[in-house]
Amino acid sequence: MDELSKITRSRRVERQVRGLPTQDGDGVRLTRILTANEQQRLDPFLMIDLFGSDEPLDYIGGFPDHPHRGFETITYMLAGRMRHRDHLGNEGLLQAGDVQWMTAGRGIIHSEMPEQLEGLMRGFQIWLNLPSHLKMNTASYQDIRCTDIPRHVANSGMEVRIIAGSWAHHTGIIQRPHTLPLMLDVHLQPGNCIDIPVPAEHNALVIPYEGNALIEDVEVACAHMAILSQEGDGVRLLADRQPLKALMLAGQPLHEPIVQYGPFVMNTRAEIMQTMHDFRNGRLTS
Ligand code: MN
Repeated sequence: MDELSKITRSRRVERQVRGLPTQDGDGVRLTRILTANEQQRLDPFLMIDLFGSDEPLDYIGGFPDHPHRGFETITYMLAGRMRHRDHLGNEGLLQAGDVQWMTAGRGIIHSEMPEQLEGLMRGFQIWLNLPSHLKMNTASYQDIRCTDIPRHVANSGMEVRIIAGSWAHHTGIIQRPHTLPLMLDVHLQPGNCIDIPVPAEHNALVIPYEGNALIEDVEVACAHMAILSQEGDGVRLLADRQPLKALMLAGQPLHEPIVQYGPFVMNTRAEIMQTMHDFRNGRLTS
């Protein structure tokens, strides 16, 4: 166990959610692990997709030009190559281990297209809400190279990549006010155990993406999402018989109304109507 972060009582698995197979973009097959049903419970997280296939027809269509308003998207590539382009003139190539953090704010129009004709394409896309007073700010975008992401490697074989927030004495490159997201990629060997402190009011979840996780004696299956209870000062995560790779997320809830229409997430229906109007009239981003 890591000496640097200890908790006294782990949160429990309140519920496990199995991902929903679906398609998005131009026919990209993916698993929607966090759907609209859990947006209130897991505030400030709005959506989590896990895409992963070595069948080119499942991903080759990519996500051609499309808009967003009112929240942030975080793309974490596990395998493959994806190119981003947006109306601001930003362009970036995401490769295995890289992270793209995009704040849509009042509006962005972008494409996310595979830059490979074969082989495995795999990763997460997470939608993180913005508080109402930041939803209409100017869009921004940041690519973070794999090699720039702080990591903790222990002799036991445990590895933790700190993408956002902080853990032990490591501080991730991304810090956000209001939602205070913690985003860790945790790799454990059989028998390894890690403590991850989480503030009491924050919502937290764990998604194993290779192997199963053990949390307070409950086995969480691969590609399922464990919604963690609110009691406890963090979560204790174990790998049992197989190596484990898991994404761990926590954040401070905004407690604001959530109204989503496709790629737009605002606080009221009137704001969504205004967004549709702006989009149709070419004023989403201006
Ligand atoms: Mn997008």
